[in-house]
Amino acid sequence: MVRAFYYRSTMFDIDLILDILAHEVETYAVPVVDLIAAQGRDPYQVLVATILSARTRDETTAGAAARLFKKAPDLPSLAVLTAEEIAKLIYPVGFYRNKAGYLARLPEALKGMGGSIPDVVEQLTTLPGVGRKTANLVVSVAFRKPAICVDTHVHRIMNVWGYVRTKTPFETEMALRQKLPEKHWLTVNSILVAFGQGTCKPVAPHCDRCVISTYCPRIGVTPRRVPGSRTAKDKERTMKLLCWNVNGIRAVEKKGFTELIKELDPDILAIQETKIQEEQLSAGLKNIAGYNSYWHCAQRKGYSGVAVYSRLPPLQVLYGLGEPDFDSEGRVLTLEFGDFFLVNCYFPNAGEELQRLGYKLDFNRALLAFLQKLAQKKSVVLCGDYNVAHQEIDLKNPKNNVKNAGFTPEERQWMDKFLAVGFVDTFRMFNREGGHYTWWSYRFQARAKDIGWRIDYFCVDKKSEGRVRSATILKDVMGSDHCPVQLDFV
Ligand code: SF4
Repeated sequence: MVRAFYYRSTMFDIDLILDILAHEVETYAVPVVDLIAAQGRDPYQVLVATILSARTRDETTAGAAARLFKKAPDLPSLAVLTAEEIAKLIYPVGFYRNKAGYLARLPEALKGMGGSIPDVVEQLTTLPGVGRKTANLVVSVAFRKPAICVDTHVHRIMNVWGYVRTKTPFETEMALRQKLPEKHWLTVNSILVAFGQGTCKPVAPHCDRCVISTYCPRIGVTPRRVPGSRTAKDKERTMKLLCWNVNGIRAVEKKGFTELIKELDPDILAIQETKIQEEQLSAGLKNIAGYNSYWHCAQRKGYSGVAVYSRLPPLQVLYGLGEPDFDSEGRVLTLEFGDFFLVNCYFPNAGEELQRLGYKLDFNRALLAFLQKLAQKKSVVLCGDYNVAHQEIDLKNPKNNVKNAGFTPEERQWMDKFLAVGFVDTFRMFNREGGHYTWWSYRFQARAKDIGWRIDYFCVDKKSEGRVRSATILKDVMGSDHCPVQLDFV
């Protein structure tokens, strides 16, 4: 291992790589904050555009920034707008209400700093809605001072290259301050954001057309399949199945759900926690081009619910388990295809005081009986949010959670039994290590610190193990407190 790392680190010439990429990205779309900066480098506009751009697509940010700057081209004009007025102008950027609140408070917060935007990271991070990433970007783009803005692309790609070995963007920033030559500090963000959006994408990067592919060790990367690289038989048969607890379909719709589906390109997508009634679905959600969708909603509004988008026409669709107590919560949806059943399941949560543990264990028993019946006929793929981390390696802090929902002995024992009677956790067919999670609490910056749980699974019946080609976790896909998991199945 030591030899391999030494070999890589000496061969990886960061000056050469960033030089190649600087030329490469000249033809790519320019990150939105750079576009705004290029029109004047006004610190106020750079700061505001950067706040707007968090968790928002560049096109959406650009439109919102243009509308806002027409009304409020500077701090004094921003100060006369209410949060409500700002929210209307910047909609539909992600978290637009929160951002409108930050921007409405900005002029007041700056009064203590002489009424202008500071050029120091530590001062900037005291402003509402301004984190380290935003502060570094403002300092480097607007003031042209040495600062390294580490966003998700810089953090991810630097780790893919093995140039740093870090778990969080903050650790990456600190490591780069030590290691990256200062001449790259101002430009590395723009280069890697453009490169990360155009080629080295978080999911299925285009290694096949990458100008630095011969230098890149591709640590932790599953490259995009190159058309023609599979046999005709494989192409015909391998299916890409995705499973994702979206934690509210309307919320992810605003964050670009339909565009993401086009990008991920699954044959079947199973989602959980839709939190919607079928009659509330927008046409855009119900009718994604190329897919038919099937919905099983809870009777209680805004609660639970599962759905499946499928390119393949099912032979039949089964709603629930046939037990009213469970089916009223919209937790199970089964699509029968020619040679397999796809069962999409949102397992109950045992509850903070474990008040629903009994209900969950009853549900689990009913589900297992249902699956065993199906498995007598043909292959079964059970995907979903199981709401349980099976083993200690499946969560960051096992010792602190032994009495908590999702890691109680009772829930884990059911999972033991489920696997013992003939089902297979497909992710563990390929990976026996800890540190791979699919859910992170929204609190305490758990996702940034990677304090997570692996509770979303694809399992198959034992007889179908040979049909599994790969099982992966798409941890870089944002939009929910869960990330999707993927099964390639023939
Ligand atoms: S070879 Fe692949 S993983 Fe490496 S930088 Fe290029 S696109 Fe990214």
